[in-house]
Amino acid sequence: MSNDYYATLGVRRDASQEEIKKAYRRLARELHPDVNPDPETQERFKEINQAYEVLSDAGKRRMYDMGADPFASGGGPAGAGGFGAGFPFSDIMDAFFGSAGAARGPRSRARRGRNATIRVELDLAESAFGTTREIVVDTAVVCEVCQGSGAASGTHPDTCDMCHGRGEVSQVTRSFLGQVMTSRPCPQCGGYGSVIRHPCMECSGEGRVRTRRTIKVRIPAGVEDGTHIQLAGEGEVGPGGGPPGDLFLEIVERPHQIFERRGDDLHCTVQIPMTAAALGTVLSIDTLDGAEAIDVRPGTQAGQVIPLYGKGIQRLNETGRGDLLIHVNVETPTKLDPQQEELLRELSKLRGEERPPGKFSPGQQGFFSRLRDAFNGR
Ligand SMILES: [Zn+2]
Ligand SMILES: [Zn+2]
Repeated sequence: MSNDYYATLGVRRDASQEEIKKAYRRLARELHPDVNPDPETQERFKEINQAYEVLSDAGKRRMYDMGADPFASGGGPAGAGGFGAGFPFSDIMDAFFGSAGAARGPRSRARRGRNATIRVELDLAESAFGTTREIVVDTAVVCEVCQGSGAASGTHPDTCDMCHGRGEVSQVTRSFLGQVMTSRPCPQCGGYGSVIRHPCMECSGEGRVRTRRTIKVRIPAGVEDGTHIQLAGEGEVGPGGGPPGDLFLEIVERPHQIFERRGDDLHCTVQIPMTAAALGTVLSIDTLDGAEAIDVRPGTQAGQVIPLYGKGIQRLNETGRGDLLIHVNVETPTKLDPQQEELLRELSKLRGEERPPGKFSPGQQGFFSRLRDAFNGR
């Protein structure tokens, strides 16, 4: 076998057609003689074209894999010293201009409109449960006077007399390939094949006019800061009355006074007096669902987390809700009057805590991992 075509293109033997095409395009761009005219590169360029012609064709590739090299057995482009019929011209064009480069004929004036992004501010309850908003957008719509054609009413675009409506002009040049016919967009009509001599007054020939529009949008529950909602086809109409782009809503979540959102969970901190922590109490907390009575057990420690399962944010596009995690802070009393101080001293004596040893609690690690768990919402 004269050549290892897989090695030439730098792909594995089991590479997919897509991988082969990609590798070829990359090399073709790099090694094209117009870019890199030295003879060695030109030789490499021929090799990759040869390799690609075989590997891009399922039949030829199978033959090659079985040991038959279509170029080795006489008369191929390599032997003939030039490019023969096998030269994959359309793919070369693709490599340079993308698939659109292969298209022929005049191009349409209508082009797709741009996408637009609008920021929408929501408060926490709106992102938790979803909401409906009326949004005012400055956009472009099809010109009603000319229906997007851009020509004044009663007139039509005239066929371009330079390209006779083809949208492109051709030229014959000499190159390493021999004589090559190249086409380029017609400079007179810009490739449209027609010329608008009397533009529509309403839109100045643009085919679209700017306007302000109000649209009603349903924002789903569970969106968060930075979420983008795509509204297909709600962007502005393109030039020449082309199809509209998309409108994106970017969610900006206003911070909440009490709750901090982490994913679908909500966190808040409540302060309770030392006595309430020791004796237990019932707190009334305003959640997103209204007031809830929270049972604080006797002996509650500072830093303890009381979870309210399912009282967080609705999960986006899923069932279920996150949790509300209440972090307890225990307040040590500061201004004690003589009677309170007396009572506390009494209590401390009863509990034998007048001279506490200040022993380490079961592991600093325990404390820190509790903090970490609280932080992660576990
Ligand atoms: Zn118009
Ligand atoms: Zn033209």
